[in-house]
Amino acid sequence: MKFGAYECFSIETAEFLMDGGATFGIVPKTLWEKECPADDFNRILLKSRSLLIKGERKAILVDTGFGSKPSMKFKKNYQLKQMFDHMDSALSEFGLTCGDITDVIMSHLHFDHAGGCTEIRNGKLVPAFPNASYHVQKDQWETAINPSARDLASFRKEDFIPLLEAGVLRLIDGPVELFEGIEIIVTHGHTAGQQHPLVRGENNALFFCGDLIPTAAHLPVPWHMGFDGRPLVLVKEKEKLLPRAWKERWILFFEHDPRIAAASIRRDEKYMRIDRIVSI
Ligand SMILES: [Zn+2]
Repeated sequence: MKFGAYECFSIETAEFLMDGGATFGIVPKTLWEKECPADDFNRILLKSRSLLIKGERKAILVDTGFGSKPSMKFKKNYQLKQMFDHMDSALSEFGLTCGDITDVIMSHLHFDHAGGCTEIRNGKLVPAFPNASYHVQKDQWETAINPSARDLASFRKEDFIPLLEAGVLRLIDGPVELFEGIEIIVTHGHTAGQQHPLVRGENNALFFCGDLIPTAAHLPVPWHMGFDGRPLVLVKEKEKLLPRAWKERWILFFEHDPRIAAASIRRDEKYMRIDRIVSI
C-alpha cells in the first residue's frame, strides 16, 4: 500500500502464545476472552509483524521480531512458530536481502521487537542488517542498558549492544521528521522512548502502533497491557493520539494482532473501534 513516496508492506515474522491476563492488564477475563480466546493455560495467540517501507532510495524496516537467536527452551515456553528461517527469505519477496536494508527503526528494544537486530555469524554477534543504520530513541536506549528489576527480563543486551560496538546505532532525542514524509511520534507509557513512525500520504497516513496499541482489541483506552510501565501515561497518550488518528484518517498498523495487520478506525459511543481492515 502506498503512502506518499513510500510503499509499505507487512512482514509477518512469527506467531506465539502469551499469557492473556498479562496481555490485557486490568481487563477482566470474561471481557478479553471474547476478543482473544484463551487455551487451557490461559494463553492467547499473538503475531509478530515488521513493517517494510520502500521508497526515496531507502528500504526501511520497522522492528525486527524475535530473530534467529531464540533457544529451544524459549521457543517451547512461548510456543514460538517462526514464519521463515532467515529474514532474507521474507525480504526476497520484495526483491531485497538483509544487506539492502538502509535503515532499521526500532519502536523499542523489548526482545520480541529487537531480537532480529543481531544474529550469530561465524560464532560472533553482529548486526543482522549489515549496511543499515539502527534508529533508537535515547530514552529507550538508556532504559534498555540500565533496566529496572521489573524490566530486566524484557531486554536482552545481545540484541542491541553489538549495534553500539559496530558503530551503527543512531540515537534520536524526541519526536522528529526522520526522513521526508516519515514523522516519528514518541510515547512513554509502555516503556520510556517508544517511537512510532507515521508515514504520511496525501489524504491519510500509516501509523506504527508498536506496543502502545498491540492489537485491535486494545483500541479502547483502558484496555492496555499489564507489561506497561506507566499505565496512566499510556492512557493519556491514547486519549491524545486516537482522536488525531481518526480525524487525519490514519491506518493503524498492529504489530501483534492475531488477525488484523492494519485497519482504519471509527468513533464508537465511547471509544475507537475498527472501521475497515486494510490489506498491507
Ligand atoms: Zn514492549
